[in-house]
Amino acid sequence: MKLEGLDVAIAGAGIGGLSLATMLARRGAKVVIYDQMAAPQPIGSGFVLQPTGLAILEKMGLHDAIAARGQVITRMHGALATGGSSKQGQMGKSGKTVLEISYPGDGHGIAVQRVALFDLLLSSAISAGVRFETGARVTGIIEGGRPALALDGGRATPSADLVVDAMGASSPIGHVPARELGYGALWATVPWPENGPFHPHELEQRYERASHMAGVLPVGTARDGAAPMATFFWSLRNRDIEEWRKAGREAWIERVAALWPEAAPLAQIAEPVHARYRHHTRKPVAGRGVIRIGDAWHATSPQLGQGANMAMIDAASLLLALTRTTSVEEAFALHLRQRAPHVWLYQTLSLVLTPFYQSDSRILPAMRDIAIGPTTRMPFVRQLVSRLVTGDFMSPIKRIGLDDL
Ligand SMILES: Cc1cc2nc3c(=O)[nH]c(=O)nc-3n(C[C@H](O)[C@H](O)[C@H](O)COP(=O)(O)OP(=O)(O)OC[C@H]3O[C@@H](n4cnc5c(N)ncnc54)[C@H](O)[C@@H]3O)c2cc1C
Repeated sequence: MKLEGLDVAIAGAGIGGLSLATMLARRGAKVVIYDQMAAPQPIGSGFVLQPTGLAILEKMGLHDAIAARGQVITRMHGALATGGSSKQGQMGKSGKTVLEISYPGDGHGIAVQRVALFDLLLSSAISAGVRFETGARVTGIIEGGRPALALDGGRATPSADLVVDAMGASSPIGHVPARELGYGALWATVPWPENGPFHPHELEQRYERASHMAGVLPVGTARDGAAPMATFFWSLRNRDIEEWRKAGREAWIERVAALWPEAAPLAQIAEPVHARYRHHTRKPVAGRGVIRIGDAWHATSPQLGQGANMAMIDAASLLLALTRTTSVEEAFALHLRQRAPHVWLYQTLSLVLTPFYQSDSRILPAMRDIAIGPTTRMPFVRQLVSRLVTGDFMSPIKRIGLDDL
């Protein structure tokens, strides 16, 4: 399909929306992004761009710019805080390894601050000619021969050939109450401690059963000349958030020190934000000419760390499907053949695996502690797990074929 002059309305200036808008506008489509924010801005802390997401950024000509900001990650390592015991007074020592993932060969991820990726995607979208309407809260879609977006205050956007819902997990389009998971986390961006004790190329985690988890991820710099930072996260049951607030900062720092003494200085300087996690897999096609991408289609806990990468893969897949077919409907069908199996697999695995790391269960983390560490060191399983965590299980990039991106 010729994309020149195609009218596209994208709801949501997140990772998926900005990536797709850039790719479409570079091929001559007339793209407008509508976002509720007063000015486009990123939400959240940092994450790992996996080889899948990096392959797309490479094709977009953005890989080197993001590599210059981010931090190469070669290993993900999780250990028990106490060698398996959670008895009071025994915590603090680094215990048994229960998660050990290295990238195959010289493969790696790149951990970035969300703002670094966002700034890069936003400037690419602007250079490509994407138009932005900010302060535009989308409330629904207006179906018809050519769909449009309904906006807050009874307004509507002009109709378009293609409407994309990229409004993330809380998209109001075809709203079904998403399943909120019992656990979320506190997230903070803190200065990277230059003189240790954390490894500059590793995601490190500590666990106590599945009820407590902390992690430190080096995420590089946000802008030229800015200091390198780390993302620090602390798992928290949603219903405990009020109690956590009432207990106060000192109590939290003590709790962090008990689980992972080396991380306590990060908690001391953190300005944490609480994030709740949702899990849903909605129907990807939301009406004639209307499609969901990214978290609007498939949201889950960030345990497998794929969400941002999956949003970019969705964007690339949809763009390529549009170029390889002769109508929007045919493009949707091809895009779904390219993406649906991978999405289904990761959504299922995420749902199954999350309770091993975030839940009130005592049995699941015990199974994890006994089985996962040793099995992930067996060569065959190690290969499988590293493909899973690096996002390459079922070869999503090969499935869409990036050659003509
Ligand atoms: C705490 C946390 C940690 C995470 N860690 C990782 C990780 O390590 N690795 C990883 O790959 N992923 C991670 N993720 C997931 C990742 O952030 C998401 O999967 C990804 O951002 C989804 O991109 P998206 O474009 O679909 O939506 P988003 O990036 O969420 O963007 C949605 C956009 O839509 C806009 N919007 C929403 N509602 C409306 C409305 N009604 N009208 C107009 N605009 C609207 C928002 O303002 C926003 O700009 C994490 C998520 C969270 C919350």
